[in-house]
Amino acid sequence: MTTVNPIVPSAPPAATPSAPFQTEIPWTNWGGNQTSTPAFTVRPRNEQEALDAVRFAIREGLPVRAVGSGHSSSPLVQTGGVLLDMSQLTGITGTDRLNRRARALAGTTINAFGDPLWEQGLALSNQGDIDKQQIAGALATSTHGSGKDLGSFSSKLRWVKLINGYGEIVEIGEGQLRELRAAQVALGTLGIFLEVELAVEDSYYLQEEITYPMWSETAATWQDDIDSNRHYSFLWCPEEDSCELLDLPGSPDHNMANRSYTKRYNVASIPDESRISTIEGARLDRSYRIYPGGFTTQFHELEYFVRSEDGLAAVEVIQDLIRSKHPDQKYPVEVRWVKADEAYMSQFQGRDSTVITLTTKPGTEYWQFFRDADAVLQDFEPRAHWGKIHFMTRSRLERLYPELDTFLQVRREFDPRGIFLNDHTRALFG
Ligand SMILES: Cc1cc2nc3c(=O)[nH]c(=O)nc-3n(C[C@H](O)[C@H](O)[C@H](O)COP(=O)(O)OP(=O)(O)OC[C@H]3O[C@@H](n4cnc5c(N)ncnc54)[C@H](O)[C@@H]3O)c2cc1C
Repeated sequence: MTTVNPIVPSAPPAATPSAPFQTEIPWTNWGGNQTSTPAFTVRPRNEQEALDAVRFAIREGLPVRAVGSGHSSSPLVQTGGVLLDMSQLTGITGTDRLNRRARALAGTTINAFGDPLWEQGLALSNQGDIDKQQIAGALATSTHGSGKDLGSFSSKLRWVKLINGYGEIVEIGEGQLRELRAAQVALGTLGIFLEVELAVEDSYYLQEEITYPMWSETAATWQDDIDSNRHYSFLWCPEEDSCELLDLPGSPDHNMANRSYTKRYNVASIPDESRISTIEGARLDRSYRIYPGGFTTQFHELEYFVRSEDGLAAVEVIQDLIRSKHPDQKYPVEVRWVKADEAYMSQFQGRDSTVITLTTKPGTEYWQFFRDADAVLQDFEPRAHWGKIHFMTRSRLERLYPELDTFLQVRREFDPRGIFLNDHTRALFG
């Protein structure tokens, strides 16, 4: 667990933030493995209050971090300075049907996009395993779903309004590609996002199909499944009871050991909504109602990204690791696909990727498993999810991210004094 204690200002603060704030309130993330006690936790209700809070931090010489829904399990949010809780800055602020765009305040959760976009004939292109993240939090770590032609949330960012390290509100649009590609995946280091614009799609219905193939079938139809489904993903079960650990319905007819819970979502056209089906495993509904909502049970994850041409080999390496050295690791291994993008610090930068997610139980000794997974995947030059447990270092970033230097330059331009860095992000991007 990583814990950060409050920074005690050397003299009493000259002023206080204009937004509601609390002092020295402990913060913990969703997974319970990251805690910190910021000197001030501020909940801005509008742009001006967020700006005042950042200016207050600058005056007091305190660092600033934002927190979204707290679903990251890496030490991204911790600060002993000012924590900006963005949960009051929510709502869709505009849509453009013709150009397929939607604007939203930074604290809008993914699930809050569904109905308002649908009413305008629009929808998010894709979603991940939950819809509880705030949009700025999802963008900060390149949150993704699955589908070989579908990019992450970050790949859809077209404009952002943010507060920079000078305490100014600035905008970045498509006319400033260099800055936009830095902002698309910034881990909170360029500043505080206030409002974002995403490229979205015409609204669409999805037909769900759940199957339970043996591993040999999954391997045999690997490329065909990737190519012929809009969304394809699976959770390979090492053991009979693996599905239950994630509250997934296992096959009613088969022992799940060495089988996968396999999801396919494809676009369906229906004449009217009387055709909607809620039959588990064969649902047909508006896209945002098909994508999963959330998990009630806590877990900790490591998630690595390899080039999609290496996906099958990398998954088999992980299966061998579990069987040979970590048979106690019974959670399903999730496998997904994401399209390449151009954001400098995106895990998908220049690489169509296969995503391998390892899930573990909080409170158990999983570090050796994660370290071994990190080691056995090294031949594939894996990148890691910024919001999950990982072993990235600055020297690894230098090897893995060809645009790292450009990102670092933009970061310094936006925040020369590093007020938006914490220990974790300073080690990576300072
Ligand atoms: C149960 C679960 C399921 C998940 N499923 C998926 C999945 O399917 N796909 C996937 O890719 N990931 C997944 N994740 C990871 C998750 O999407 C990321 O960790 C995401 O960043 C969390 O968003 P959040 O709103 O909780 O942000 P937080 O964790 O609160 O913050 C993440 C980062 O965003 C920054 N930030 C937040 N708001 C702002 C702002 N307004 N301005 C600037 N910076 C800001 C924070 O400072 C921090 O650096 C999952 C996580 C959990 C716990």
